[in-house]
Amino acid sequence: MKVIVVGSGPAGVSVTKGLLERGCKVTLLDVGNTLETDKQVLLDTIQKSDALPHIESLRYPANAKNKMKLPYGSNFIYAGVKEYFSWDVQNCYFSPSFAQGGLSNVWGGAIAEYTQDDLSNWPVSCRDLSSYYSDIISWLGKYYISDTSSVLSQQAHYLKNVWQKHFVEFEKKGFSFGQATLAIDFNQCRLCGSCQYGCPYQLIYNTSIHLDLLKLNADFNYINDVVVENFSEDKNEVVVHIKNKKNFQLDKVYADRLFVACGAGLSSLLYLRALNKPGKELYLKDSQHFILPCLLDKPFKGVESEALHVLCQLKASLTEENVSSFPVYLQFYTYMDLYLQEMKNKLRWVFPLVKPFLNSWIRRLVVIQGYLNSKESNQLAIQYQSANKFKIKKSQSKSTSTTIRKVVRYLKKHKNELALKPLHFLLMQSLTGQSNHVTGSLPMSDHPQEDEVDIWGRPRHFNRVHFVDGSILPSMPAGPITLTIMANAYRIGKEGPL
Ligand SMILES: Cc1cc2nc3c(=O)[nH]c(=O)nc-3n(C[C@H](O)[C@H](O)[C@H](O)COP(=O)(O)OP(=O)(O)OC[C@H]3O[C@@H](n4cnc5c(N)ncnc54)[C@H](O)[C@@H]3O)c2cc1C
Ligand code: SF4
Repeated sequence: MKVIVVGSGPAGVSVTKGLLERGCKVTLLDVGNTLETDKQVLLDTIQKSDALPHIESLRYPANAKNKMKLPYGSNFIYAGVKEYFSWDVQNCYFSPSFAQGGLSNVWGGAIAEYTQDDLSNWPVSCRDLSSYYSDIISWLGKYYISDTSSVLSQQAHYLKNVWQKHFVEFEKKGFSFGQATLAIDFNQCRLCGSCQYGCPYQLIYNTSIHLDLLKLNADFNYINDVVVENFSEDKNEVVVHIKNKKNFQLDKVYADRLFVACGAGLSSLLYLRALNKPGKELYLKDSQHFILPCLLDKPFKGVESEALHVLCQLKASLTEENVSSFPVYLQFYTYMDLYLQEMKNKLRWVFPLVKPFLNSWIRRLVVIQGYLNSKESNQLAIQYQSANKFKIKKSQSKSTSTTIRKVVRYLKKHKNELALKPLHFLLMQSLTGQSNHVTGSLPMSDHPQEDEVDIWGRPRHFNRVHFVDGSILPSMPAGPITLTIMANAYRIGKEGPL
């Protein structure tokens, strides 16, 4: 049995784990871009020395609204995709990855399981993910600790204590709060505050860590610098069309089963290309994202020099039908040096004049990243035009801004209990797709129709091709998606037909 997996992101390594555990021989084809050598050498040096890193060359001028997050100041994770899948975007955001480890090179590490409610519209036979979640969580090993209280920043500690005092009233008002669960090796974490630039010690979980372990298995073969451009299937096998990224040579490889884990966006393009029907459209769900700066009710001296991590500190879910028909997910980020940089970018020459005043703000600034359920968000309509041309635009016209404004008003109404005052005039609503939580273009179904897949990820008309990444999730609640993508891919690898 020859099994091919495409992609080494969270979905790719998880399906591979399941397949190898069943005794399959697996070849993983991957474009597999890696960080530039000079930057990796610098990281290795930092990791060997115990000195505080001087990492200016690994940083980049960030801008929350418009710029992509660049790990170590490098574009390697996004580079080269458009040379193989060319698209035009209209009024939306689409930035898939060709990197080894995919978007896990840049993610925020926030993980959460879907609730039973979130899974209620999944096919009955694959609704119970509990054992797959546990297996993936134990696989994360030292990159998973459920209790992050010992690494909360002083601002987050303060908020957590205030919120705990009002716990009962908050519950009545639809809020439920908690500490963020993050896939970070906190035992080694230096609390150096560089997480948003890429961890200099590489302690934020990235699937390359598991790829290296998979490589030790004699039944596993990793081939990088290969772009899967298309596939087709006949009665006996799958034909995978590949191009070597180094010498541009075209080739075909044959497999009994193909597992596609290119990330929801690129898997959608690959599916459309395989169908080859000009004008055909697929709809990729987004979880509408927004950024809301807030001021704490008191300043915290010394935050600028505090030892802390700068990923999500606290999380909240807001379930209030007058605000939104579905729970809204809020992630709270306390002090980080990016805030001052952002202000510098915005205020330009005025910045030095107002800096003393801004310093007092910075000591009170907390930023919320909010997400809406995909049912309340717009979608990305992906149209196949020709083999190498796709058009991607925002589709539907959900009143996302109205819902977001209601969220902000609700938070404002409860600002005293929350100890946080929303700065509504600084609210930023992201483009459709910019949440980086995009899924569900080929949703799983018990009775798959056109552009749906069965519970093993197989689209109609395909028996040997399985889509296993976020493209097949039937629902997307507001909140982290990657743990669910991994658990579901692992389920397919472990249990799917061979
Ligand atoms: C800035 C940012 C922050 C995020 N934060 C979070 C978070 O905190 N929590 C959370 O749950 N999620 C987060 N996400 C989303 C998370 O990163 C994705 O859900 C996850 O990486 C998806 O995994 P995947 O395996 O499906 O795809 P990807 O990670 O995109 O991996 C795709 C893989 O496929 C390979 N590939 C693609 N096309 C081809 C091809 N044609 N041929 C060969 N190989 C190919 C690529 O090289 C790569 O290895 C974030 C994303 C971003 C960008
Ligand atoms: S604070 Fe962030 S960047 Fe620094 S060591 Fe910890 S995880 Fe890495």
